[in-house]
Amino acid sequence: MLHRILQRSWLRLLRPPAELAVERQRTYQIFMQTYLFASLAHLAFVPVLIWLDNLILQLGNLACIAFNLVAISLHRHCHFALALLIKVSAILALITVGGMLMGEHTGFEYYFFIVLFEILISEMRRRFKLMLVMGLLFLSLLSVNWLYGMWGEWPYGPISLRMVHSLNLVSAGLLFAYMLLQLHFITERTELRFRIDASHDSLTGLLNRRAIFERGEAYWKKGSVFCLLIVDADHFKAVNDTHGHSAGDQVLRHLARLLSRALRDGDLVGRVGGEEFLLILPETSLLEARVVAERLRHRLAERPCRLDDVSLPITLSMGLAQATEASSLRELVELADRRLYMAKASGRDRLVMEGGDEPWEDPHLSAAAR
Ligand code: GH3
Ligand code: MG
Ligand code: MG
Repeated sequence: MLHRILQRSWLRLLRPPAELAVERQRTYQIFMQTYLFASLAHLAFVPVLIWLDNLILQLGNLACIAFNLVAISLHRHCHFALALLIKVSAILALITVGGMLMGEHTGFEYYFFIVLFEILISEMRRRFKLMLVMGLLFLSLLSVNWLYGMWGEWPYGPISLRMVHSLNLVSAGLLFAYMLLQLHFITERTELRFRIDASHDSLTGLLNRRAIFERGEAYWKKGSVFCLLIVDADHFKAVNDTHGHSAGDQVLRHLARLLSRALRDGDLVGRVGGEEFLLILPETSLLEARVVAERLRHRLAERPCRLDDVSLPITLSMGLAQATEASSLRELVELADRRLYMAKASGRDRLVMEGGDEPWEDPHLSAAAR
């Protein structure tokens, strides 16, 4: 129960604000995780600092947790640079004062690298970043060469010093590894999302025009036998005109679902125009492809798209061609397209899989020309 509440709160904190551009969501998530993880690390140090019995460090550690919470809130409201500056100032103050009070060899200096890494992967301007990095390196040199041990030395024996040093080393190492891994995972996830967005149609989730033609080209180059089917919804404009554009969108999504479910493994479908879809059926003869096409038409007739209990009956016109009928993918698409227009011209709601070998002449256009 507690585990689930914590998990849900963690995920809610990591969810970027809706208004944030996709390419900035990656950095948002990485820094939010860093603030959360750093807060946990400070919490883990509470018992260590109680054991060290140093009130200044205890208060400093608690102040760091408070500043981390402020940073989380600022970060959620998209004040990214300010959030980071508050967070790193707090930790820098703690590790500098910590070294001044506890002397050298405590391992506080490892956190300089964490801060360096955070500054480098942040979204700050490059010039500002460079200035901060220079300032940070200066502070680290100043600290380890001059400031550390200024107000006191390690009050206990060498064994406890080694233990604290090791704890800081492991804690800084874990933080570093965690941030690197997150950077890697989130980058991979973002890349995958970009790749999916670039190859899929956002309305229907099907492959987009470019992607389906690329797949078609790959099949063509392999020299495998395949059929190409172009499907167009009949009188689709009337759906938009009568029921509105969003009803039209719903019909398109319904069609996309129907097409994808009716296909076999390996078959591909993409949206190539407003209400036009292209299907690639590998290792399929013309007769087998006809069965697939007719099945699609019948399924749609059986299960029309419904909108608030109103049925929106839509029919499909289709043009089918086999790879062996053309000498390039372009020719094959043009052949299937001519057959689609033959299906339209001869009354719609049908499949045409023959003819169209000559460039198609629209009878209406030619009548008008005469
Ligand atoms: P035909 O039977 O000859 O194919 O007639 P049609 O009305 O289906 O074809 P037409 O080319 O005249 O009109 C297609 C319509 O599809 C026009 C356009 O507004 C609509 N459309 C294109 N893309 C979308 C979309 O993404 N959503 C919606 N709702 N409509 C779209
Ligand atoms: Mg149409
Ligand atoms: Mg069309």
